Amino acid sequence: MTSLDSSPYTYEAPVSAGLFARGQEVTPGGVNSPVRAFQAVGGTPRFMVEGSGPWITDADGRRYVDLVSSWGPMILGHAHPDVVDAVGTAARRGLSFGAPTEGELELAEEIRRRVAPVERVRLVNSGTEAVLSAVRLARGATGRPLLVKFAGCYHGHVDALLASAGSGVATLGLPDTPGVTTGAAADTIVLPYNDVAAVEAVFAERGPQIAAVVSEAAPGNMGVVPPLDGFNTELRRITAAYGALLVLDEVMTGFRVSASGWYGLDPVDADLFTFGKVMGGGLPAAAFGGRADLMDHLAPSGPVYQAGTLSGNPVAVAAGLATLRNCTDEVYAHCDEVSAVLRGAASAALFSAGVPHRVQQAGNMFSIFFVPDERQVRDYADARTQDVARYTAFFHALLARGVYLPPSAFEAWFVNAQLSGEALERVLDALPAAARAAAEVETHRTGALDSERSS
Ligand code: PLP
Repeated sequence: MTSLDSSPYTYEAPVSAGLFARGQEVTPGGVNSPVRAFQAVGGTPRFMVEGSGPWITDADGRRYVDLVSSWGPMILGHAHPDVVDAVGTAARRGLSFGAPTEGELELAEEIRRRVAPVERVRLVNSGTEAVLSAVRLARGATGRPLLVKFAGCYHGHVDALLASAGSGVATLGLPDTPGVTTGAAADTIVLPYNDVAAVEAVFAERGPQIAAVVSEAAPGNMGVVPPLDGFNTELRRITAAYGALLVLDEVMTGFRVSASGWYGLDPVDADLFTFGKVMGGGLPAAAFGGRADLMDHLAPSGPVYQAGTLSGNPVAVAAGLATLRNCTDEVYAHCDEVSAVLRGAASAALFSAGVPHRVQQAGNMFSIFFVPDERQVRDYADARTQDVARYTAFFHALLARGVYLPPSAFEAWFVNAQLSGEALERVLDALPAAARAAAEVETHRTGALDSERSS
C-alpha cells in the first residue's frame, strides 16, 4: 500500500489518472454514471479493482474504508462469502433463460413478507426502471396525466421526474436536462419537500388530474433530509382524498434502514413502492410492488405494458436473496451503531475545528451539511445553502487518509455491517484533520445555484 500523503491536494493516483484519461476517449466524461467523475470535488476519480468487507482497493494499490458501499447496495460489505457463493452457484446453472425461475418468486416473497402493503411484485433491472414502470402503472390505472414530485428527490433518470432532481443532477447544478420534452416536464408538478400546505394547494387546484405523488420515502439524494413527523401520512391522506396514488420510492432506503426499509420505521401504506440497491446485493435487480388490484393492471394480467429481457435474472436474484437473508437484526443493529459513532465523531471534530454544520440521518443513512447554522435542513432550498467548498476540502482530506466518501455534498453516506475494528479506527483517526481542512476553507456558499431551483 502506498503511504498516504498528509497534504490533501498533492497526493497522486497515477494509474487511476491514466485509466481516467483512457476512459475519456471511449465513454462520455470517462465514466458510466456522472457522479463517479468527481466533478463536484475535483481531482482524479479512483478506479477500483477489489473490495473486501469494509475495504476497497484502487488501481494504484491504495486501500480505502468504503463509506459509499456502491451507493447503498453493499450493506453486508464487499464480497460477502454467502453472496459470492450464491452468485457462483447460480451462474454455473445458467446466466439467463428468458423464462421464469423459482428464485424470482422467492425474491418477490421476501419483499412481500417485509413490506405489508406490497401484495404483488414485478422485478426489473434498475431503480430507474422500477420508478418509470410505477409511474406508467399509476397513470395507466388512474387514467390521469399529472405527477407531483418534490424538489431534491431523485428517482433515477426518468424523464418525467428529472425536474429539480437531487443526486447527480444536484451535484452538477442542472435544473433540468436537454432531451426531456416540454410535454414530459409539463405533466410534472414540482413542490418543496416537507411542505404539506403546498401539496394541499396543488390538489385543491388540479386534484382530479393528478395520477400520483411520487416521493422518496426518506430522501437521501439532496443529502439526507428525512420527512418531518407525519409528512408521509399527510401525503397518504391527501392523495386518498383525491383518488390519486401515493408512490413511495424506497430504492435507497429499502432493506437498508431496517429489514422493512423506511416502511419499518414509518409505516405508511403507499399504493406502490419501488425498490433497488440492497435487494440486488450489488447486481442489477430492482422491483416495484403494491396492492394486487393495482399491480394486476400490468401485462400480462392487464393492459399496462411493462417487460424486460433480463428482468428477474437468476444471478442477480441469487445475489439479492443471499443479501436479504443475511440482513439479520444484528446487521441492522451494527449499521445503526456504527452510523451513530460516525455521526458523533464527525460532528465533534467539526465543532472543535469551529466548522458550522448539521448532521442529518434517516435510520443508518446520514450526511453532513456544511450549512451556516444548526437549523434543520428541511428541503432542497435549505440543502443548497451549504458550502460545497468546505465539503470538497473535507472529502479530499479523508480520501488522502484512506477514507472513501461520496464525491458530492448532496449524497448520503452508506455504512456496512463489516465496518468495525481497524477500518472504523481509520475513519475516526482521520476526521479531526478533515475537519481542520474544512475549517481552512474561505466560505462561499452555493448561492449562485439558487436561481436554478424551481421550487
Ligand atoms: N430512486 C432513488 C431514491 C435512488 O436513490 C436512485 C438511485 O440512486 C434511483 C431511484 C435510481 O436507481 P438506479 O440508479 O438503480 O437506476
